[in-house]
Amino acid sequence: MDAFVWRREGPWWLEGSRAASAVASIPAPVTPVLASVPSRVASIVASAVIPASSTPVRCGELLCQHDSYARTLDTVVVSCEPKAAQEAAAKGKKKGGAEAVPAEQLWDVVLGNTVIFPEGGGQPSDCGTVGGVPCLRVDNVDGLAKHVLTAPLAPGTPVTVAVEWARREDHMAQHSTQHLVTAIALKKWGYETTSWGLGEQTSFLELGTPEFTSAQMMELETAANEAVKAGTPVTPSWHSVVAVNEGAVAGLRKSSKALPPSVTGPVRVVSFEGIDTNTCCGTHVQNTARLQAIKLLRVERVGNKGACRVHYVAGGRVVSYLGGVYERASALASRMNVPIESMLERYEENARKALEHEKASKALALEVVGLLAEGLLQRLTAGEKAVLVRRAAADADFVKALATALDETLAAKQALLLVVVGEGEGEGTFTLAGPPALVDVASGAVAQALDGRGGGKGGRYQGKCQKLAGASEALAAAVAALA
Ligand SMILES: [Zn+2]
Repeated sequence: MDAFVWRREGPWWLEGSRAASAVASIPAPVTPVLASVPSRVASIVASAVIPASSTPVRCGELLCQHDSYARTLDTVVVSCEPKAAQEAAAKGKKKGGAEAVPAEQLWDVVLGNTVIFPEGGGQPSDCGTVGGVPCLRVDNVDGLAKHVLTAPLAPGTPVTVAVEWARREDHMAQHSTQHLVTAIALKKWGYETTSWGLGEQTSFLELGTPEFTSAQMMELETAANEAVKAGTPVTPSWHSVVAVNEGAVAGLRKSSKALPPSVTGPVRVVSFEGIDTNTCCGTHVQNTARLQAIKLLRVERVGNKGACRVHYVAGGRVVSYLGGVYERASALASRMNVPIESMLERYEENARKALEHEKASKALALEVVGLLAEGLLQRLTAGEKAVLVRRAAADADFVKALATALDETLAAKQALLLVVVGEGEGEGTFTLAGPPALVDVASGAVAQALDGRGGGKGGRYQGKCQKLAGASEALAAAVAALA
């Protein structure tokens, strides 16, 4: 899964609030009991069956947004329609003849209320079950929570809704951490968070600063974990647009106050007591201690935006991430035959040795070039028109040094050097060297004999070939071309 990214570019709080256009024909939901009781009690209250005639509670005021720890809810099916038919209607046209059958028939189901959170505020949708039927996700369609189910349910049916808790708990931890870290970075340095993303392994938040040092990251991490230890309560509340816009909500973050005209409220506000108060529709931990720990991993500069991404893990991910890192480190240490603690020193030592080996190997290669060149010079002086060198392995430097050593004699004797490199009789590389005019004359025949393709100028023609077995034939072709 790609990171689920939220950007502060539009009226994103709309996702959790009722817009004027959506409210017009739907009466306000009746949730007085839930709104006035502490969230721990709300999950108990919520187990009462909502009558079939009840109006669906709208996004922004769903049970999951009142009590993020409610895992199940007894409610009733309000409406159910096949998803494909609805989509076709939306397109306003049907294909001629038989209708295309979707790979999987899905159903849009609206319930009295739900514990399955639709996506919003940067948090991906939950999944779960409705009356035992898998719920793949919930779409927020003009404020209505539409559960995408794999089977239909008749309107009026009493059902139990259950959220997939492990996924939700993880999402709440990453999302709540974003609130906390955003608030601390704003307070400490005045850096605004411009976007955040919830990834499968790690998450990030993007700070609007071109520079964010490792020391600042450590300071931010320490402060964030102090806030976790403090066990600060996190509570949602609902306010009128007027209260939000006029600053009547105590401690509300400045960036939260500019509500667009389309929002009519109630506006959901989430408070991390004494740390941050912000408009948000997502689900959050009830208490910062539930975050367990926050680990900021690294800072990544986003050069073209003048921003810095801080990658992090929180909650249960800290333990699983540490477990994964430890497992890989153990495997590596075992291969290096040292304890994990000495891995870096061993790596440095190995790197130093590798460099020494490389130097020694280059010196040896030059010696070999010298010896080879000696023999080849004798043969060229004796009148051979083309000489062949076959090597199982040789890098470009080796070939270049050999050709350079012979260049003067090749020019004087109007002769060619063919170097063919590779193991076996199939794939390899080749180089034809000598006076430019001769190389041009012979290159085509040489490439053909080696089943190769090449290019070059200034007395060099190099390329890859498929038929190393044709080396002698290529040499003969070169001689023939010169005749
Ligand atoms: Zn939030």
